Amino acid sequence: MLLKTRSESNELLIMRALNTRSKLSPQEKKYYFKLEKGFQGELMFDLLTDKLQSDMLVINDICLEINDSIFQIDTLIIAQNTIYPFEIKNYYGDYFYDSDGFHKISGPDITNPLHQLSRCKLLLGQLLQSLGFNIPIESTIIFINPEFTLYQAPLKQPIIYPTQINGFMKEFDRTPSKLNDRHKKLADQLISMHSNKSPYITRLPTYQFNQMKKGIVCPKPKCDSYMISGGDKTVVCKNCGCVEPNESAILRCVEELKLLFPEMKITTGWVFEWCGGIKSTKFIRRVLMQNYTAKGGRKFCYFE
Ligand SMILES: [Zn+2]
Repeated sequence: MLLKTRSESNELLIMRALNTRSKLSPQEKKYYFKLEKGFQGELMFDLLTDKLQSDMLVINDICLEINDSIFQIDTLIIAQNTIYPFEIKNYYGDYFYDSDGFHKISGPDITNPLHQLSRCKLLLGQLLQSLGFNIPIESTIIFINPEFTLYQAPLKQPIIYPTQINGFMKEFDRTPSKLNDRHKKLADQLISMHSNKSPYITRLPTYQFNQMKKGIVCPKPKCDSYMISGGDKTVVCKNCGCVEPNESAILRCVEELKLLFPEMKITTGWVFEWCGGIKSTKFIRRVLMQNYTAKGGRKFCYFE
């Protein structure tokens, strides 16, 4: 049973917006594509865990903290006798393994996912213990991309390669499991501890409002184009033709502003500028009034 769905991290959402609205350096672009690819890989794994029939609890994308250490688990599955953290890697291409770790053939080295896995297992163990749960942890790396090859692959490591995934999932689903209230309580407790503090957010490039391209970005994934006015009630994407009601487009822009500039006080003027002047300040003000709380009095009115 799925208890927590997956959505894009703030980091990915910010990088996505920056990619559309500013000029990223080649290195920043590479980092952005890596985040997109990682997220796509996780969604691919979700399609497989969706099919599980056994009595287990699935928690996607959880970020936890113990003793000032933050760790993130792509997928966590709670079964009767064991708890299974999964680390999903969407690597593509040819890699080799040696005692130093994983290396890309013709490319920069990557951080050893086995180290990441053992750190996560250790911290999760400490956290479970602090909650009074003594349940074995079995962690696994899933290489989800069918076009990933690892040469000199180590045996006896908790790694599932692309060609093994289907067999592994079938076998995994046969794990005998019968959950009780205690398991559910543990899952609820972990979800309530989920923190939005990404351990990686400091890797973001610096950016400023003035330097970013203004306008309403198309809501369709990967379209990256801008919307133009489609008449009184809607805006239309000039690339894919996608139609969106005015109000929902404005609200998306406000949420984007809040994500990119958490310190900013949201005013009609800022939103008007951010949307590229497509809709009148009068209309934007009305949308803000209806969906947020106005603060700060008449002279300097902002919305929260
Ligand atoms: Zn579009």
